[in-house]
Amino acid sequence: MPARPQQTLALDTGVEQVRFAHGKRLEGLAELGITTIRDLLEHYPFRYDDFSQITKIIDLQIGEKCAVMGTIFEAKGRKTAKGGYLYELTLTDDSGALKAVWFNQRWLADTLTAGKQVLLLGKPEHYGGFLTMSSPLYTVLADKKSDGQPTSLDDSIESIDEGVSPAGIVPVYRANNKVSSNWIKRIVLESRKLVAEPLDPLPARLRMKRRLVSRQIAWHDIHTPAVNEDLVLAHNRLAYEQVFWQQLRFAYGETQQLKGYNAFAHKSAGSLTDQLESIVPFELTTSQLKAIKDISEDMQREKRMNRLLLGDVGSGKTIVALYALVKAAEQGWQSAMMAPTEVLAQQYARAVGDYLDTLGITWTLLSSSMGAAERREALVGLAEGTISVAFGTHALIEPDVIFKTLSLIVIDEQHRFGVDHRKALKAKSPAADFLSMTATPIPRTLALVLYGNVQVSYLENRPQRATITTTSIDSSVSYKAYEAVREALSRGEQAYIVCPLISAPAQPDDEDPAYLDDLHEFFDEPYIAAAEAELEHLRTQVFPEHRIELLTSRIKADDKQRIMSAYTQGEVDILVSTTVIEVGIDVPNATVMIILNADRFGLAQLHQLRGRVGRGTKDSQVFLVAHKPGDSAERRLRLLETHTDGLKLAEADLHERREGDLAGTRQHGTGSLSLINVMRDKNLIEAAHADVVHILDKDADLSLPEHQLLRYELEHSPEVVSD
Ligand code: ADP
Ligand code: MG
Repeated sequence: MPARPQQTLALDTGVEQVRFAHGKRLEGLAELGITTIRDLLEHYPFRYDDFSQITKIIDLQIGEKCAVMGTIFEAKGRKTAKGGYLYELTLTDDSGALKAVWFNQRWLADTLTAGKQVLLLGKPEHYGGFLTMSSPLYTVLADKKSDGQPTSLDDSIESIDEGVSPAGIVPVYRANNKVSSNWIKRIVLESRKLVAEPLDPLPARLRMKRRLVSRQIAWHDIHTPAVNEDLVLAHNRLAYEQVFWQQLRFAYGETQQLKGYNAFAHKSAGSLTDQLESIVPFELTTSQLKAIKDISEDMQREKRMNRLLLGDVGSGKTIVALYALVKAAEQGWQSAMMAPTEVLAQQYARAVGDYLDTLGITWTLLSSSMGAAERREALVGLAEGTISVAFGTHALIEPDVIFKTLSLIVIDEQHRFGVDHRKALKAKSPAADFLSMTATPIPRTLALVLYGNVQVSYLENRPQRATITTTSIDSSVSYKAYEAVREALSRGEQAYIVCPLISAPAQPDDEDPAYLDDLHEFFDEPYIAAAEAELEHLRTQVFPEHRIELLTSRIKADDKQRIMSAYTQGEVDILVSTTVIEVGIDVPNATVMIILNADRFGLAQLHQLRGRVGRGTKDSQVFLVAHKPGDSAERRLRLLETHTDGLKLAEADLHERREGDLAGTRQHGTGSLSLINVMRDKNLIEAAHADVVHILDKDADLSLPEHQLLRYELEHSPEVVSD
């Protein structure tokens, strides 16, 4: 065995160094993202099957998951009445007999044959007078019919694929058709012959403080735990480490990037922001005031601001951003505010432009529909510094958009931009203060994980106090929702009806529609509402006396503008749309929303959608219509009924599930944060974050001897995907 430093270096050598890893297998590993030994060791099991406690058949409890060990007495497969395939066997141990059944797994006829000794893991039920496990996990222990002697080493590796593995706590890995979980398990063991005792990059001081086991032990126990307690300790250490690296990468990267740039300290006295206060026509809410104060303090500091402003749709984020824009202008510097759509950018210009005009602050809206001369003029203004504020979409990141002194960047709905877009805008002035805004509720720990060293401001109370009631109903009683719309319209209010599709999928000509209906019924598939068909239906059948318009991405920009403004003016009663209304429409008179096939939308999307009502002072209703939603959809709908506050909703969701789809980003199930659950691991995330901040405060370049390995790891551990 080489010395520990050599072993440590070996981590980053190719996985083909490991015995048995070659040919197709190597390809299979590469498809899983495994090319180095480190990748392999960090390919953590996503599950463990506990075969360690064997229960006698006589002691089995109905409905309790258990492992049993026995011999296959008889086994047979047969066709079912519906044309499927059923494989059935009887297992005996010295205490009794148990049945096991699997559906549509024909290969079992070759694997689980009479005479073999196997372990089954599953939940026994009473079925047809027999104790039966349905689709249990299985492991073949020995085959009494063959002599069991492998002919060559590679054969023995092949046989591993067939499920021959020892009892105990069995790790289960993400695998594919070239490499099985059992095979991965085997070569992880092989790789540890090359790298048994790697050096631990985490400083000893930190490990003591956080009570973390060494990397060596953690890697051993995560892959081959003897008992559950070991697994917990290993998991804890490695989960901490995942966040630690991620935070260190963010923070170190940023420190390095900002070298040579001076931060913008907005220290001027504040005459314009004072003036702004006197012209805003409403009273700011407590959380708006707090957010403005936080932002203002951040901006004064000689350090780059990185703040995330969270608040439900309608919570009043724009006005908070306006304060930041004015503060930059007051200092004589420039700011840019980027929105994901043209419509939104225009809305800002409208909502905010008047205030800026009143304060004598120059601004421009960069848009794709601008004439060439107009655009040139705007670009000159920005380059020379005569224009202080630029609104726009991606148009802002065009290379010819140059600022004289860009000291503040605001990005709205930041998750709707790709990393590249955000980076491109930031690159125009790397040290500029940065404010991002989103209606997607992100708990602080998740924000840390997503965006690194970020401060969070949260607008909790909406300025207008209308309540929104959310009700989930089955599509068979959807008339209740339409009744609510009818009542609202009779009060002179307006409604939204949201559909998942724009138009119904075309039916193949040669298919008999009656047959298709049968098919739908057979599979119990719901009808998927399409906006165009829904419009027709509403106009002709349901609300013939009302004005109904359609708004989808297929509508031409001019018409869109016209329809939106007609709706805003109250000239249209019902807006039928897809999710294009998700951002940007602000109609206080709209009080009912029906979302059809709500089970097809994600939690965050549904929450954003419902924020379109209740924007005035009138109480509002949202109906989530679904047809027999599956478990996870059911759960989403229930959460939405229970929680109206976005952050509470997000937290409840994250508590329940491992990966929050609210993040609106990639799943964390695999990759650099595979072990993390942002709610469960709150403390761990805060700890790792604090430790990183502390280390870099002391040693920004990681040049102290005790930080050598940290630097080495940073340069070798996998790239983090977000920015
Ligand atoms: P969002 O957070 O969705 O971006 P906006 O900033 O668009 O919300 O604000 C929604 C509406 O509420 C706007 O019409 C805005 O003028 C109004 N508004 C914002 N703050 C207040 C307040 N403190 N009191 C009353 N109305 C407010
Ligand atoms: Mg907004």
